[in-house]
Amino acid sequence: MALSEKNSSYRKHSQKMDKRWDNFQEIFRERIGDRQFQVFGSMLELVDINDNKVEMKTPQDFHRDWLLEKHRDAFEESFELAFGPEKDYKINVDKSTTTEVGKTISSPETTSAPQSTNSQKEKKVFPFAKKRQLNPSYTFENFVVGNSNNYAYSAAQAVAENPAEGYNPLFLHGDVGLGKTHLLQAIGHRVSDLWEQAAVKYVSAEKFTNEIIQAIQEHNRKEFKYRYRNIDLLLVDDVQFFAQTERAQEEFFHTFNALYESGKGIALCSDRPPQEISLLEERLRNRFEMGFIVDIQPPDYETRVAILRNKANQAGIALSDEIIHTIAENITNNVRALEGSLNQLTIMSSFSDEEITPNMIKSRLASFMQADQRLQTEVVTVDAIQEAVAEHFSVSIANLKSKKRTKAIAYPRQIAMFLCRELTDSSYADIGEAFGGRDHSTVIHGENKISDELENNNVEIKSHLEKIKSLL
Ligand code: ADP
Ligand code: MG
Repeated sequence: MALSEKNSSYRKHSQKMDKRWDNFQEIFRERIGDRQFQVFGSMLELVDINDNKVEMKTPQDFHRDWLLEKHRDAFEESFELAFGPEKDYKINVDKSTTTEVGKTISSPETTSAPQSTNSQKEKKVFPFAKKRQLNPSYTFENFVVGNSNNYAYSAAQAVAENPAEGYNPLFLHGDVGLGKTHLLQAIGHRVSDLWEQAAVKYVSAEKFTNEIIQAIQEHNRKEFKYRYRNIDLLLVDDVQFFAQTERAQEEFFHTFNALYESGKGIALCSDRPPQEISLLEERLRNRFEMGFIVDIQPPDYETRVAILRNKANQAGIALSDEIIHTIAENITNNVRALEGSLNQLTIMSSFSDEEITPNMIKSRLASFMQADQRLQTEVVTVDAIQEAVAEHFSVSIANLKSKKRTKAIAYPRQIAMFLCRELTDSSYADIGEAFGGRDHSTVIHGENKISDELENNNVEIKSHLEKIKSLL
């Protein structure tokens, strides 16, 4: 947590406030654009949140004045959406802590997060930047290596230790749920650990596509270029998605070349090898093929057992060998389904004191086994989430998108919004749009409601979420 030690009242109830502050920053960033946010919004630090006021500070008058003169509307609107209409705000200027402003600014949305410039001793990192971009548990340390994936694992490590040398670009491919995203992000973590100033960017091809389309619509291509050319390591997930849009392919081709030619590292993932991505332009395919191509296979039995042991340990649940072997025998193709089944077991064991038997597992894990067999190859989309939620709760998709507010509809809708935030890269605005043109605040409210319930350990919601995920 990047906030100063003296903010004890903030730290005491960190969880929720953190979230509202994160939400605020995200909305504000969306409103004023990455670049402006980078320079001015990121200078804003949270000091304290109390019952009626949120206190912030900036390092210079200049920052506060600029924010309030140029971006007051966006600031206040974002503030209200995140903290509600009741709260006041106050921005102090804290010059005592300022050194050379602007020196440590890095490119937008990179993992070398914008640092406040106010301390030489203690590096401050904005919490949202890292959190939103890389999943903290997707590290090399948390990756279980076996025959099926050790080649990919070693290649990913080699890239992380020496980006842009030899293995550039790295192209990882394999079916869904086998750890591609995990390894790609592990590269990002390792590079950020090794080179503190490295600008690492992780993005899905879908998000890249949406961003370029938006940049074109808003005549904002310069900003887009700036965002993608000032990067030391670019990690792009699910590049098969580029096959869908020519415009995105073209832009990515130029981004790729620019980075490659200036000696920057690139690592890519896909659900299939480059030659099988139909509709991919030849020149882009050539770029993909000139690097190091490596595949991940489904885990063998020993690796499945090792993964289950490892995850059960992490979750702090004790499972007998018999149980572990039953799961490993029945779920064979997909590590995500292995994880899902473990979560389901945790829920089962919290419901009753009855001992879990292999037979119970077989009946309870049926849906994971089906998901495992189906071996989905698609990226999760907002549409898919709406369908799965509609099916699970037996409501219609039209109702999810409707204005109806009865609990029978509103509750599934909130769960769906929560899942859209968790499983896709869509912004609050996009999700709101997909749910009948609702605005940011409704989506934030839905997301917060479900995450509050999860924090309170509401097992019913956990169970709904697991079942819906198994339908995806
Ligand atoms: P993909 O991107 O290939 O669809 P992910 O990287 O999202 O798959 O992996 C799905 C889940 O399985 C993630 O939670 C990931 O941490 C986990 N996982 C996959 N492979 C391993 C592994 N070898 N060791 C530990 N966890 C793994
Ligand atoms: Mg993935």
